[in-house]
Amino acid sequence: MSRYAIISDIHGNLFALQAVLARMSDLDVTEVVCLGDIVGYGPYPGECLDLTVKYSQTIVQGNHDEAVVDPLCADAFNGAAREAIFWTRDVLGPLHLNALNQLPLVASLGPGNEIFCVHDSPHDTPTRYVHDKQIAALAFAGVTTPICLLGHTHMPMVFEAPMADQPLTAPQITAYIPNHEVDIVLRDDCRYICNPGSVGQPRDCDPRASFAVYDTATRTFTVHRVEYDVAAAQAATQQAGLPTILADRLAIGA
Ligand code: ZN
Repeated sequence: MSRYAIISDIHGNLFALQAVLARMSDLDVTEVVCLGDIVGYGPYPGECLDLTVKYSQTIVQGNHDEAVVDPLCADAFNGAAREAIFWTRDVLGPLHLNALNQLPLVASLGPGNEIFCVHDSPHDTPTRYVHDKQIAALAFAGVTTPICLLGHTHMPMVFEAPMADQPLTAPQITAYIPNHEVDIVLRDDCRYICNPGSVGQPRDCDPRASFAVYDTATRTFTVHRVEYDVAAAQAATQQAGLPTILADRLAIGA
């Protein structure tokens, strides 16, 4: 039986990542899964990549990881995000760029490969952000396993769908906004899309770093929030010459 720590959207925020790794060591975690966006936005991309590779057994590539390797992908990003992509590309050496380039887009894990991992959306949905029931209903069409783990929205969330019905509509989906430290028990007659929230740039108005633990024995998905030194992360962002908005938003979790 496994207890997976699920981390996502670290975005070069070393202070947040270190706080999450420290908290994780108290949670009897057996494996670490990273759902991508290790870099982009924050001032410590190389350090975050090294730590993530050191501690994770499974890593998938996020859109910021991809854009750092192939800046044409940053064309769709907003100004601050694009600026951070070029900054990140400048500070990373060839080994780090190669490591990001080698990351797979999807991964499977768990007993019988029951867990599918992807950074954003498992299906060609109108937006790659699986943030509401309507998009989740479409996203489930890309999942053949009981559980899909994804990030990208920077908001912890669980979507539950009936096992067999396809295609799904929004009213068939139940959405949970997980309270931190409260177990959500995944039923074995339903399918799930679970998002652990963001380690390095939460956007649910809670500035604490977010990650989750999924326990295959109890079938519980639990979101954890961890305080970290936001002021230090902001100062490092400013010192790196990254856009001010990227420092400001850390304090308000937006
Ligand atoms: Zn992200």
